Amino acid sequence: MIPEHAGAGQPSVPPTWLVTGGAGFIGSALVRQLITETSNHVVNVDALTYAGHLESLGDSRDHPRHTFVHLDITDAAALRAVLAAYRPSTIVHLAAETHVDRSIDDPGAFVRTNVVGTFTLLEAVRDYWRTLPSAAANAFRLLHVSTDEVFGSADPNVVFDEGTPYNPSSPYAASKAASDHLARAWHRTYGVPVIVTSCSNNYGPYQFPEKLIPLVIRKAISHLPIPVYGDGLHERDWLHVDDHARALRAVAAAGVPGRTYAVGARGERSNLAVVRQICRELDALRPCRGARHESRITLVDDRPGHDRRYAIDPTRIEQEIGWRPQYDFEVGLRETVHWYLEHEAWVQTVIGDGYRGERLGVTGP
Ligand code: NAD
Repeated sequence: MIPEHAGAGQPSVPPTWLVTGGAGFIGSALVRQLITETSNHVVNVDALTYAGHLESLGDSRDHPRHTFVHLDITDAAALRAVLAAYRPSTIVHLAAETHVDRSIDDPGAFVRTNVVGTFTLLEAVRDYWRTLPSAAANAFRLLHVSTDEVFGSADPNVVFDEGTPYNPSSPYAASKAASDHLARAWHRTYGVPVIVTSCSNNYGPYQFPEKLIPLVIRKAISHLPIPVYGDGLHERDWLHVDDHARALRAVAAAGVPGRTYAVGARGERSNLAVVRQICRELDALRPCRGARHESRITLVDDRPGHDRRYAIDPTRIEQEIGWRPQYDFEVGLRETVHWYLEHEAWVQTVIGDGYRGERLGVTGP
């Protein structure tokens, strides 16, 4: 049962933001920030897949301005009911299947959520947006949150920007690319005020421990081999998740509908360099008897279709929106390592009985 709630078109009350995927890694960071740093009401819609956990919301979970609605974004009727009931002025669309290795094993789930789910949301929003009074319709924003992986692998000395052609390699990246095209088309064809953001790799607290940084921490403190794909020299452009959440808020406030913003912190590093830094932090915090953590780094078969390098040029968001990342990577990574050591109970809760850190996404013999 969804209660009536004031929102778009009623300027005397604080705005209502709707966040899809708000129980995931980036979504929960955004919800926590919105609850603690604004007076907004936040409606958080999430299917609570293996990657979504209400425990990631911390104190914001039970805050009176936070409302959780358990729904799947492919459920058009449920989405329409939420929009009608809460009348959001801003929607940030983060719900997605996100792990590249899982997309190799089960691409259908990625097409279903990332492509069909985004289409379902766009259609529901198109009809909702048309019902808004003109001032509210003009102020309304739908942020479609995407990834630098849609651009494929960057050649040396090339950086991605808003004009970079799409060239996705993995089923995950292809499904995100498809959803980006849908989002832009709903702006060009129907006028829905959609903004697309293309962001680099995020790191920080509350990331499901299948992703590189929390996986390495977990393997290291369990004294297990620390797997690194291929030669380890694949480069990623790292951004702290709280900086990403601030970027989304800045784009919602000052971004131009129909425009795309590339988001990154000029934080390029090889996977091996990141893994070695984690090992050094753990040598100090959780020394391993008789050996440095780095001695257990093990190069394993590369991921099929593994992009060699991603790198973002964030000049547009810096100059037009005034956003700048606040985190230095070394400091942010050190804090992140500390966080995972202090939150082993959260890690155990989210992995449950389902995920043991095994290798995923290996094709054929
Ligand atoms: P995540 O996997 O941690 O969280 C995804 C959330 O979406 C989970 O809470 C999950 O329960 C929910 N969800 C999945 N399928 C759903 C469905 N059908 N209906 C409703 N909810 C569903 O992902 P994340 O890392 O927080 O990424 C969020 C978004 O940001 C994604 O769109 C991703 O493509 C994009 N992005 C992520 C990164 C990164 O480094 N993590 C970088 C750039 C862009």
